[in-house]
Amino acid sequence: MRQTAIVTEIQALAPSVLQLTVSFSQEFRFQPGQWVNFRFPEGGPSRAYTIASAPQRPEAVQLCVRVGVGKGGEALRKLEAGAEVVVEGPYGDFLLPNDDRRGVVFLAGDVGIAPVRSIVLYMLAEKDPRAITVLYEPDQRHILYAGDFDPLARAGQIVHEAGSIETLVDRNRAAIKDGVVMAAGFDPFLERAKRALEAIDVDPSQTISETFGPQP
Ligand SMILES: Cc1cc2nc3c(=O)[nH]c(=O)nc-3n(C[C@H](O)[C@H](O)[C@H](O)COP(=O)(O)OP(=O)(O)OC[C@H]3O[C@@H](n4cnc5c(N)ncnc54)[C@H](O)[C@@H]3O)c2cc1C
Repeated sequence: MRQTAIVTEIQALAPSVLQLTVSFSQEFRFQPGQWVNFRFPEGGPSRAYTIASAPQRPEAVQLCVRVGVGKGGEALRKLEAGAEVVVEGPYGDFLLPNDDRRGVVFLAGDVGIAPVRSIVLYMLAEKDPRAITVLYEPDQRHILYAGDFDPLARAGQIVHEAGSIETLVDRNRAAIKDGVVMAAGFDPFLERAKRALEAIDVDPSQTISETFGPQP
């Protein structure tokens, strides 16, 4: 599917991290965890960005993007609210397994929290009974979406811990061994998450993962 859309809001979530709100004239249906191909205006580049919002709100989606050094980063710096863009998709199979009742442990690095936020908000809205653990390695202590995750953790609805992925995996080994592991982020983070799982004797090939490519 290919739709034109309007970037209605651009918010800085942290240094070099923006949240784009993209609004559609028709509903944009997707499954939590999926990504879109975002075509910048005026013949600019296109880049894959993952939807950070829950599918219960299909008329607008939120994207959480790191402004890198490449052509995508350059186009992001020029992007203004009100811009018309083209969105293709949704794509991807970083999806919550339907037929598995085990708890879900998410390993997310930096903006890799985007699909995790979408899936967690969806699970809570759907009253999914599975235990949810979010293990998050922020970039330079900027905990993205703390405003969503902190109250949920305080209310006991999820476990949300931040720190280095090696420490978090080691500390949560019991939940990991009993659960489904879903990992998202740039390649260097995923590589370290894989090694951290191996260090606690968990086979990383069983992990559902989404790579965002090289660190921008
Ligand atoms: C499935 C998928 C989902 C994704 N979801 C997200 C998401 O939700 N949020 C997000 O932020 N990103 C996401 N990405 C990554 C995103 O699509 C871009 O690849 C990323 O933002 C880098 O784009 P860029 O244009 O800045 O770099 P590109 O121009 O594509 O360059 C690629 C890499 O080359 C290097 N490079 C390029 N130019 C220079 C330069 N001048 N100097 C030094 N090094 C350079 C950098 O390492 C850079 O990352 C996703 C990627 C995939 C595949």
